[in-house]
Amino acid sequence: MPLTRHRPARWSWRTLLPWVVGLLPLACGLAVMRWQTDRDLRASSQATVAEVAGHVEHILDSLAAAARHLQPRAGQPCEQVQLALRVEVTRNAFVRSTNLFDHDNLYCSSLFGDFDEPVDPRDYTDGRLWLMNGNSVTPGQSLLVYRSSQGGRGAITTVDGNHLRTALRLIGDDDELQVQVGNHWMGADGQVHDGTPPVAASAAVSLASSRYPFSIHGGYGPDKPGELMRSRYPALLGLLLLLGVVAGASCRWQLRRASSPRAELDRALDAEEFLPYFQPVVRKGDYHWAGVEVLMRWQHPREGLVRPDLFIPYAEHSGQIVAMTRALMLQTAQVLAPHAALLDDGFHVGINITADHCRDLRLLDDCETFLQHFPPGRVVLTLELTERKLIEPAPVTLELFEKLHAMGVMIALDDFGTGQSSLSYLRQFQVDYLKIDQSFVAMIGGDALSQHILDSIIELSAKLGLGIVAEGVETDVQRDYLARHGVDFLQGYLFARPMPVEDLLLALAARPGRPRLPPDAAPEIMRG
Ligand code: C2E
Ligand code: CA
Ligand code: CA
Repeated sequence: MPLTRHRPARWSWRTLLPWVVGLLPLACGLAVMRWQTDRDLRASSQATVAEVAGHVEHILDSLAAAARHLQPRAGQPCEQVQLALRVEVTRNAFVRSTNLFDHDNLYCSSLFGDFDEPVDPRDYTDGRLWLMNGNSVTPGQSLLVYRSSQGGRGAITTVDGNHLRTALRLIGDDDELQVQVGNHWMGADGQVHDGTPPVAASAAVSLASSRYPFSIHGGYGPDKPGELMRSRYPALLGLLLLLGVVAGASCRWQLRRASSPRAELDRALDAEEFLPYFQPVVRKGDYHWAGVEVLMRWQHPREGLVRPDLFIPYAEHSGQIVAMTRALMLQTAQVLAPHAALLDDGFHVGINITADHCRDLRLLDDCETFLQHFPPGRVVLTLELTERKLIEPAPVTLELFEKLHAMGVMIALDDFGTGQSSLSYLRQFQVDYLKIDQSFVAMIGGDALSQHILDSIIELSAKLGLGIVAEGVETDVQRDYLARHGVDFLQGYLFARPMPVEDLLLALAARPGRPRLPPDAAPEIMRG
């Protein structure tokens, strides 16, 4: 039985599972790598921020030391202290200017000597530090100002913002670093901005100095973790990808392998891949089409047309045959009913039914639905029960058969002669027809003993008053022999092979006025 699956692009758990299994190791590996990368980035960011903070504290130590030296001179006349102010500038690498103030007025500067400018302590965070975007001497040039005060007078020292900028750039070359003082901050571009600095997209870290009122913010851009993962774990990434593909592919393979015949038949039933084919049954004498037997075919998307003996035995074994037969009956009714005018009244339609179906009272509904498609009396539904699998004469089965007969449904015993049905069995189920198995028909013209068995079967069915259908009639010799021995109906390749509904309708329509054909004038179309 062809078990390969072919679903029309439908998302089911069977299609999704291999993707999930394939992506799982990749997702888990990426998550672990990402976690490790984040941890490393955070540690690196913390170290950088701590290093920058230490460097800024070192700069501020210089400013504080210079201010401390000058603090006692505050209040003295500018000409007396001016030299001392300049000495501090020269002695300290980071100090750009030194200034003295008294009563909130800057009165002496290392740069200009006498000066006169108000000093507002509120500009300074914690009264000590001010990050400003330039002053009157160098506007636009950032500046960090340190203020030391005692009793309303004190010293102010400044450092050029370039020193901070250099520290931010050199220490954390690919970090996003900012130094914040109060409500002002400066990034690696050297510009001072108002407000709070933006939070970095990844590994954002902040560190407030314990010694001076400033804090350092650090972190990395949004692309940094991805870049780091790619540069650090290229082999591992490749391995994970390979693992994902292998896991996904083997899961898919397993699923395909595990796709049971049952699932395959269910799928085919859903996809309406089981089709009715029709083989005519001809009447003795005029060889007119008295009816058709419906034979199931599987139009498999990959394997093509599949013969029933390749899948019916499994469907019978699994019990799925009941649903398949129900669908086949409905489909048969739907394709034939619109062309009911082509059929003679009492046209037989034979459906093969299994023993399991005979324990299911719903068979009555199935037959009723089938017959309702046609004008009353147009078709005679014949259920063909195979003798190979014996039907239990259970109460439900007997009730079912009684009701089927009441409905006008006929019963034929298929493959007769191959099983061991007793005469009482035939009576109990009120069988209407016997279908002589083709193996007996094939014996015609053979040895005397085989022919004797066939004759006995024909004789028996005549005695029981049952109609006889002979299957597998392939030669004129067989046809004539059966006709001579009183077999009512014949079926076989000699008359027609099983055909799709289109061919059946064409053949039915090709009979103008539905004439009765002489035995020797079977037209080509009837020969299939
Ligand atoms: P069957 O019910 O005995 O059907 C007759 C089989 O003999 C058909 O085979 C038919 O094609 C074949 N046949 C007809 N005339 C000739 C002939 O002249 N020579 C030879 N050699 N063969 C001939 P098919 O269609 O392959 O069906 C095989 C079997 O599968 C059927 O045997 C029947 O038992 C089962 N089957 C088919 N359709 C159904 C179905 O819808 N339900 C059930 N339960 N069984 C089915
Ligand atoms: Ca049959
Ligand atoms: Ca048969």
